[in-house]
Amino acid sequence: MNIQTITKILTDAGIEENEAKKEVKMLLEHFSNYTELDRIRGKVLPDSEWDRIREKAEYRAETRTPIQYIIGESYFMGEYFKVTPAALIPRDETEILVREAIRIIKENELKNVLDIGTGSGCIACTIAKQTDAVVLGVDISSDALRVALDNVTKLGINNRAVFRKSDLFERVREEERFDLIISNPPYIPYGTSVEPEVMHEPKEALFTGENGLRFYREITEKAPKFLKPGGYLMFELGIGEADAVSGIMEKDFREINIIKDLAGIDRTISGKLA
Ligand code: GLN
Repeated sequence: MNIQTITKILTDAGIEENEAKKEVKMLLEHFSNYTELDRIRGKVLPDSEWDRIREKAEYRAETRTPIQYIIGESYFMGEYFKVTPAALIPRDETEILVREAIRIIKENELKNVLDIGTGSGCIACTIAKQTDAVVLGVDISSDALRVALDNVTKLGINNRAVFRKSDLFERVREEERFDLIISNPPYIPYGTSVEPEVMHEPKEALFTGENGLRFYREITEKAPKFLKPGGYLMFELGIGEADAVSGIMEKDFREINIIKDLAGIDRTISGKLA
């Protein structure tokens, strides 16, 4: 057995070749501690290890479980986050949102951040790690919050990112007042078909009503009560949602700024409380 035979198990199941190659490296590194450097140096992996990798690849091919759930980790903004099927897998696009948040936080010396729908805590933990702000992450799912708490420990940011079970603002108090509210809310319209891998992620983290706009509307309507004067609100955007979300935000927010992702899709929106 070798890297090619394992890769073929994945490509035969319809997984794209470059992705398959990347995933085989991830399996080897995670389960057999066999790195790219070991491969280059010609280190031989025992058959028992290959069997183990083959089993994982077969499971991946048969079930289309995302590779991140199989290895239990996902790379985001320079860190490895724990992930389980209780929380959305951090996406590359979300790095654009977090980078912009970090820029705004540093430029304006912001101190208190609220992350709504924190899931794995990837946004909250990265902001807490890379800025001087403290972050409160809220989520409706206790199982997701347990993952987020494990990530606080994993990143060594105790007390800088804290979590609370709350349906949006339900258990956030108005006196808490934040400098910035950030969210990567569920934004895929109900009924949209997605890749088989995505079906393994929590549906309530992905899909919503009002053509995908429900959470942008609800959060934007309530945000002014929980923001300090001049506070910021920012979201990740679903495809084609920029105009609608900017329309929703215009009532109470100014300096609305939209940033595109590498594919040219409007991906991040921010605004300042008027
Ligand atoms: N905040 C998490 C993330 O961006 C979870 C988002 C969600 O579940 N919609 O990955």
